[in-house]
Amino acid sequence: MADVVNTLPFFYGSITREEAEEYLRQAGLGNGLYLLRQSRNFLGGFALSVAYAGRCYHYTIEREPRETYAIAGGKSHRSPQDVIDYHSHESDGLVCLLKKPCNRPKNMQPKVGAFDDLKEKLIREFVKQTWNLQGAALEQAIISQRPQIEKVIATKAHERMPWFHEKITREESESRLQNGSRANGKFLIRQRDMNGSFALCLLHDGHVMHYRIDKDHASKLSIPDGKKFDTIWQLVEHYSYKPDGLLHVLTDPCSRPGGDNALPMDSATFESPYADPEELRSFTVDRSQLLLEDGELGSGNFGTVMKGIYKMRKTDKPVAVKILKNDDTNPAVREEMLREANVMQQLDNPYIVRMIGICEAENLMLVMELAELGPLHKFLQKNKSTTLKNITELVHQVSMGMKYLEEHNFVHRDLAARNVLLVTQHYAKISDFGLSKAVGEDQNYYLAKGHGKWPVKWYAPECINFFKFSSKSDVWSFGVLMWEAFSLGQKPYKGMRGNDVMQMIESGGRMEAPANCPPEMYDLMRTCWTYKVEERPTFAVVEPRLREYYYDISQ
Ligand code: AMP
Repeated sequence: MADVVNTLPFFYGSITREEAEEYLRQAGLGNGLYLLRQSRNFLGGFALSVAYAGRCYHYTIEREPRETYAIAGGKSHRSPQDVIDYHSHESDGLVCLLKKPCNRPKNMQPKVGAFDDLKEKLIREFVKQTWNLQGAALEQAIISQRPQIEKVIATKAHERMPWFHEKITREESESRLQNGSRANGKFLIRQRDMNGSFALCLLHDGHVMHYRIDKDHASKLSIPDGKKFDTIWQLVEHYSYKPDGLLHVLTDPCSRPGGDNALPMDSATFESPYADPEELRSFTVDRSQLLLEDGELGSGNFGTVMKGIYKMRKTDKPVAVKILKNDDTNPAVREEMLREANVMQQLDNPYIVRMIGICEAENLMLVMELAELGPLHKFLQKNKSTTLKNITELVHQVSMGMKYLEEHNFVHRDLAARNVLLVTQHYAKISDFGLSKAVGEDQNYYLAKGHGKWPVKWYAPECINFFKFSSKSDVWSFGVLMWEAFSLGQKPYKGMRGNDVMQMIESGGRMEAPANCPPEMYDLMRTCWTYKVEERPTFAVVEPRLREYYYDISQ
């Protein structure tokens, strides 16, 4: 809705009530002169400012649960524009009919202001506090979790804010506010009961004032006779810039002692275990720090993958251990495992399985982060009711990991659903770097010396015809991976031999869309299967396309 509204010439964006009055005054304050602005207290709502008899009147246009819009208590309409059209003919409670739009001055864009900025600020704050992340990991979490975070922000963000002190007594809140700095405007919010009643506690001249915050029948929050808000954080934001009846604006948030950081998703492996400077990193893992557990996670021609515990300085970390079987006859397998370790050692991204280290003991072992739910295709085969949104979420995460590889000049060469492992149903990581290669920045492809045991059905034409591997050929494989994901783990080109697949591709044929696959996603697969390398998109293009679609369906 915001996009459509943005094109209205009389929409000013996130301006304050005072600014709206100034614009109406400059335009002459004629009866029925009006403008539209974004609400600063209701999520997704608007405000209508109207001039009449030399004064300004302001009406909130609320967004109702079914995406309709209405002035409180009035008729519902499909859009804010429809509300305005209606009130151009019917005053229906307004001070007068809407007569003339007060258009924005030339060259002025609607103000992308407080609300969006605030949301961005909150998202950042929220992710930082909840997952205890910083830097690149923080940015990655924001991109991949945005839709969920926005929803949580709307209703529960206050629980993560340092100024929110949960259910403490009035006396306890006073002692917390009197402790340490005693600046005017120092404040906290405490929960009074479980029915949505809170208290705003404010320090002023050494005394603590307690303002009740009650929820009305429409779930709006307000202090007695005060402005109403959808959320506690909007209320705090409002009184942080305007006292509006309080003894002082809110200036200094009083922090909750030892604010809790309960994790809404299992993110223990989101950041590298070595991100903590107290955990020293080395390429090798000491056997005495590694406990192997019963139970095999999987196997391959090199040996088995077992679950284990790696005893770090501060924590015990569950890990997956790839154990090379004792086989002196084939040194190539050992070589391959060491090469894989060497590549993994250089990568650090939340959507790529991290290597913890190599352990040389009774066998050669590669210690990795654990992704307990196993390969994506098997998970989807077993969980046929996985939603399209969930699939898109996982596939998007894979594209984020691949974008990272592309940026760091690595080609994976074995990207397929079997090599995407799940930490949780909502968290995927790319694994199996056995075939991966670092490539030069200038010559950004790897030329294989000959044909190997190749996953031909995942390979782009130039891999097969010219043995040429690049991030673009990984993009082709990613298209096949998408197809596997949206078909809930089916085999691509089922029943066909490698040669037949190659012929089909050469003559312009491509796999059909999986059943129930959203057209946007099939369209993206087809783009990944662009024959000519130069015309095929990079992950820098694929990732934002997936992101956009994922955000779209998450609304
Ligand atoms: P790979 O040869 O690397 O594909 O590993 C063989 C199988 O072991 C995989 O298909 C998974 O089922 C399991 N596996 C490998 N790495 C991990 C891991 N990091 N976490 C959990 N399971 C794993």
